Amino acid sequence: MINYTEQLTVLMRDVVKRVPTLSFIDIDDVFVFGRFGRAEAEGPFATCHCLTMPPSEPGYYFWRDRRSGEITRRSEWFVTKSPTVTVNDHQVKYLISFTLPRFCDQSLGRSRKERFYRRATDAWVAKLDTVIHELYHIDPEQKGIRRIEREDGTCCAHSHGPQFLSNVAEMVSQYLDTSPQPSTYDFLKHDFDTLEALYGGVTGTSFRPFPSYPQRFQERLAEQPSCSPELTAVDVEPWREPTPRASFCDDDLHVRQFLRASSRKVTIEKRQFRAA
Ligand SMILES: [Zn+2]
Repeated sequence: MINYTEQLTVLMRDVVKRVPTLSFIDIDDVFVFGRFGRAEAEGPFATCHCLTMPPSEPGYYFWRDRRSGEITRRSEWFVTKSPTVTVNDHQVKYLISFTLPRFCDQSLGRSRKERFYRRATDAWVAKLDTVIHELYHIDPEQKGIRRIEREDGTCCAHSHGPQFLSNVAEMVSQYLDTSPQPSTYDFLKHDFDTLEALYGGVTGTSFRPFPSYPQRFQERLAEQPSCSPELTAVDVEPWREPTPRASFCDDDLHVRQFLRASSRKVTIEKRQFRAA
């Protein structure tokens, strides 16, 4: 079977070597993982998740009375933090998730980047465009997501302007102009059915328990600050969120096979030896 997330990692390593704008990226700081998504369903092809965003300022939720507008209740104080992810003893700074099998069946039809790629034979370049798009989200100062930052540290398509998309299209051309080895990107040329026929299946590395993965999380402040006078008489909702996972490592990874309508854990058989 073809491990799609490993192939994408090899491709990304080659891209950052050949595209000057992305040369500041060390691919060892980036971990690629698979999420499940049907080809025919709406949703992102890939998402860049930043793990280096600093914790948020302390805050709380509050509820207002609709009529009087007065605050009636508030939560306890909390901060929003990034988890740590350590792979091969190296703490990674970004995660890039690819949605399988949806990503494999991506084409240029109806996409906003269609205007950059005019030849039908270039349909597979839509996938290369997504790979470079996600790498372009990595901020050169590694403090978050380039240009667009959400509190949850993620970004996906539809949230940036035409300049971003045309910069990505330019980098796609730059990469292809350097004549990379076709074996590095050939896997992008196949749709999901062809990959299954060629390799007997498509796998990807994922976090467990699937489909969970490391995400920004809220943590109650152990020491609750004092509130402004208008809030002192307000009811405080006790913090009920379960203690979130704050760190992940190799033990939290596993390989899954992605199918058209589902995914399943792959049991890798260990070769054993027994003397006669
Ligand atoms: Zn994006």
